[in-house]
Amino acid sequence: MNTELLTKTPEKVVEDLRKIVGQDWATCDPDLTKGYLYDETEPLLRPKANPACVVVRPGTPKEISEIVKYANRVLLPITVRGGATNVVAGAIPTQPSIILSMERLNQVVEMDEKDLMITLEAGATLTQLLETLKHQGRLFFPVHPGDEGAQIGGMVAENAGGTRAVKHGIMRNHVKALEVVLPTGEIVTLGGKLLKNNMGLDLLNLMIGSEGTLGIITKVTLRLYAKSKYSGTLLVSFDNYDDATNAVPDILQEGITPLAVEYMDRIISVKAAEQLKTTWPCQKGSVDLMFIVEEPTEDLLYSNSEQIVAICEKHHAVDSIIADTDKEQRRLLEIRSNAYGPYKERLADIMDAAVPPSALPKFFDEVNALSKKYNREVVSLGHIGDGNIHNFILGENGKLPENYEQLKEDIYKVAVKYGGTVTAEHGTGKTRKKHMPLQLPKREIELLYGIKKLFDPNAILSPGNIFD
Ligand SMILES: Cc1cc2nc3c(=O)[nH]c(=O)nc-3n(C[C@H](O)[C@H](O)[C@H](O)COP(=O)(O)OP(=O)(O)OC[C@H]3O[C@@H](n4cnc5c(N)ncnc54)[C@H](O)[C@@H]3O)c2cc1C
Repeated sequence: MNTELLTKTPEKVVEDLRKIVGQDWATCDPDLTKGYLYDETEPLLRPKANPACVVVRPGTPKEISEIVKYANRVLLPITVRGGATNVVAGAIPTQPSIILSMERLNQVVEMDEKDLMITLEAGATLTQLLETLKHQGRLFFPVHPGDEGAQIGGMVAENAGGTRAVKHGIMRNHVKALEVVLPTGEIVTLGGKLLKNNMGLDLLNLMIGSEGTLGIITKVTLRLYAKSKYSGTLLVSFDNYDDATNAVPDILQEGITPLAVEYMDRIISVKAAEQLKTTWPCQKGSVDLMFIVEEPTEDLLYSNSEQIVAICEKHHAVDSIIADTDKEQRRLLEIRSNAYGPYKERLADIMDAAVPPSALPKFFDEVNALSKKYNREVVSLGHIGDGNIHNFILGENGKLPENYEQLKEDIYKVAVKYGGTVTAEHGTGKTRKKHMPLQLPKREIELLYGIKKLFDPNAILSPGNIFD
């Protein structure tokens, strides 16, 4: 890489980029670039950003293509930046880079009601998508990672998940077409408004979850669904995680698939409520399951909710609460959304392991044993319906705690032992890549590197993400 260009003559790079995007859209002014150096990775875990960066904000795929060709010519790395809400340092430039921000490609291109699809520019945010659908009134897009500032392109690049995967899956299940600028500058369209498409190998799915390493996504077509008319939120309390986790498969086997089934250690919910100056309604027990149920009729909503409670009672639930007003539902969801709030300043790491749901009781047992072994408090919440648990490891006096690396690695090993993953939805990025060999065999990693080389022979795109 020719990073001296950025450390010694950044003005020259800005001048070259301005020839592509116009005067206003490239800068190396540190007052302007500093806001582009970080993302939502926990501060204690963030790699140090390299400030020798130029920020470029293109307005069209053609301009992106020209920038990429330029970067290949002069050999400069590009860090792609969406909404910067990822938590694995994917948007942090750790070496002198061109930071390519997608913020100006933010239009809703087409709402296709007949085919139930929507096409957006990649820099449109989740908020924009939800607003568009609210305005339309009848259609629904299910994937919702916690931060609505995420861009649609970023959600595709991370293959985002969230609370609703148990019913609707993850981004991969809904992306039907992508327009992508390849690392060599060609613009390609992968997929189409099709439910079936078996031509060749599936490059569309290779691009989903590629974290900015195989191409720059410029346009996304998503599948939409009819909106359910009735929704309710249930809280069911248990004395222990064993009973809580064992109840969930029985509910799913009964043919009831809630929109979300969230597990929360009670201490998290109580603190999250306190921070919002409200109270968590459950008192009995020590862990809670939050069920969000959405159904096409009111009768079905009530009968399914009653059945969920009945099944939980068979698994020794000690209390249940139904939020039957919109106001109470919103209050509970707000508390759940604030789960990270009270811990934010002290968080060393939010783990993102997943195991097959049947292995969750054993996973919890072993994580608790590790927490005792290392004398470190670990609290947990997660998307229990799909086996994805976020264990919070807390920092100590503003630093990563002693034994942090060992505790983290041991939790990863437990997940992998039960057929699970180190990272279920947050991505590999820069912070989880070191542990890839715990999960993937050598040959698989070699193939990944081979694919990267084929797409990006000069390794200019999103250096440090997934690949060394
Ligand atoms: C409070 C909070 C809660 C969260 N909850 C969840 C959750 O429940 N589930 C979940 O899955 N995630 C969650 N996240 C993580 C995050 O919101 C998602 O990873 C999201 O998909 C990132 O989108 P973004 O636009 O912010 O991407 P960024 O953070 O900007 O980028 C993410 C990665 O994608 C690349 N990239 C971005 N845009 C493009 C593009 N157009 N083309 C190619 N590469 C691109 C970047 O280089 C980077 O590597 C949460 C984050 C926060 C802060």
